[in-house]
Amino acid sequence: MIQLYIPLNFLGAIYREIKQSLTDLDRMFSLMDKAREIEDRPDARPLVCDAPPTVRFECVHFGYDPAREILHGLSFEIPAGKTVAVVGPSGSGKSTLARLLFRFYDVGSGRITIDGQDIRDVTQSSVRRAIGIVPQDTVLFNDTIEYNIAYGRPGATHAEVEEAARAARIHDFIAASPKGYGTMVGERGLKLSGGEKQRVAIARTLLKNPPILIFDEATSALDSANERAIQNELRRAARNKTALVIAHRLSTVVDAHEILVMDAGEILERGTHAELLAMQGRYARMWMLQRDAQERTETEEVG
Ligand code: ATP
Repeated sequence: MIQLYIPLNFLGAIYREIKQSLTDLDRMFSLMDKAREIEDRPDARPLVCDAPPTVRFECVHFGYDPAREILHGLSFEIPAGKTVAVVGPSGSGKSTLARLLFRFYDVGSGRITIDGQDIRDVTQSSVRRAIGIVPQDTVLFNDTIEYNIAYGRPGATHAEVEEAARAARIHDFIAASPKGYGTMVGERGLKLSGGEKQRVAIARTLLKNPPILIFDEATSALDSANERAIQNELRRAARNKTALVIAHRLSTVVDAHEILVMDAGEILERGTHAELLAMQGRYARMWMLQRDAQERTETEEVG
């Protein structure tokens, strides 16, 4: 029995290894496929963007399929170094804004500019270098935690990786693992919770230190202590950066320079948290509902 078990177990491990590698490759190729849909113009120049820039969406129309428009003429500005947050129901087009800014797709009409430069006139690589993304689901590679963080800036020294990990409040967790930064991540190694994965993504982004930041908040519920901690780390990462935050929890957006309330590809309301509450409209109703739900959860956690 033992004799049969060992090879089967070994095969299972190899299968898992291959499956994990394929998942990584799959994700990478799907990103590359998207990138391939967009061609640089023959005369494309690198984006000029040293300090946090002003980002503008000007009357942007877009549909993944030309027959079904998703965004119906959106205009907004993220002033240099400020944070604009987007809230709204699932499917309203929030993540699509992030994909367009990262130039996975080109707008149907209208334009997106970074410091006045239309992102279709500059090279994609220079746009992507200027943007750091903390996605909902961070892809972690089947490699060491050090590699996974350094992925934000290949060639980073160990001291730089550790500094980023400390700033993202993930260092203590790593240091407590058996092989520290050399601990493997993945099914047979270090398993990370949703919150820990987002911290790795924040550490990667801190290491990359881009002038523009996109944060796509995880939809999955974190406990409220974890949620507040991630929000603090995010606030620190977004300091002095031009940031677009796609939020599912309104507590994330209270400090934003402007909040856009979206539904079905349109901006229904916009303003600061206080202005939107005073409007007593959609945002104010969402705020009451979430606050009540949050209070219930906190009572349950304490109880
Ligand atoms: P959530 O809060 O659930 O993340 P969202 O507001 O970010 O939602 P988007 O992901 O921007 O919504 O999607 C907007 C619309 O575009 C949805 O109707 C969705 O089905 C559609 N959509 C998203 N991605 C694609 C795609 N790759 N191809 C075709 N349609 C898509």
